[in-house]
Amino acid sequence: MLIKTANEIEVLREGGRRLAAVLREVVVAVRPGVTELELDALAEKLIRAGGDTPAFKNYQPGGANIPFPATLCVSVNDAIVHGIPTHRALEEGDIVGLDIGLAHKGLYTDMARTIMVGEVSTQDRVLVEDTERALSLGISATCSGARMGDVGAAIEAVARPHHYGIVRELGGHGVGHAQHEKPYIPNYGVKGKGSKLMAGMVLALEPMFNIGTEEILLGEDGYTYRTADGSRSAHFEHTIVITESGPEVLTL
Ligand code: MG
Repeated sequence: MLIKTANEIEVLREGGRRLAAVLREVVVAVRPGVTELELDALAEKLIRAGGDTPAFKNYQPGGANIPFPATLCVSVNDAIVHGIPTHRALEEGDIVGLDIGLAHKGLYTDMARTIMVGEVSTQDRVLVEDTERALSLGISATCSGARMGDVGAAIEAVARPHHYGIVRELGGHGVGHAQHEKPYIPNYGVKGKGSKLMAGMVLALEPMFNIGTEEILLGEDGYTYRTADGSRSAHFEHTIVITESGPEVLTL
């Protein structure tokens, strides 16, 4: 369903608030030495303590051989998105993408942040900051009456001066009744082109920028996407609702 009712938006608002609170606590636990699986266990515990359901756990997208085994996607350094958490301990200088979703009263919200572990290189810090800025500019462009291309153009404009690779195969999406709904939202585009955005649409915007190539590789696990050249990648995501007075971020 493209347009959500006022009641559905109210539930999504509460779900988004809960999701943001969970991720905030997980981010506090990020430090050198913590393992990816420890972060995942914390995320699952916090979501279930609120009476909600992790959205990604046991989700099986088309083409995948196994259901996703975790609550949190943990994508370190050259991993772009959908990393399966492992026993690996985070190290100083890593950048780690944490992507999380939950279902609250049957409705889904989705968000992600890339966290710098201790001191990181200047290049990595700028990549992370630019990707986060691209998300906020993309959100600002997501207004009733605007076009899908306006959103992609706003995101792409941040990447262009830095020659970041913009992942083409993955992007944002509608969300709510399911984890992934229409429409698909590319992280590039032409202003004024594409379908019209309307109040009541609930969307997950998620720019992914690579320091190097835009080319990506899917790992043998069937989930983890990495940059083809091993360069580092950052990813930020919020779930928003378009209101008559502008975009409202639900996952704050
Ligand atoms: Mg998403």
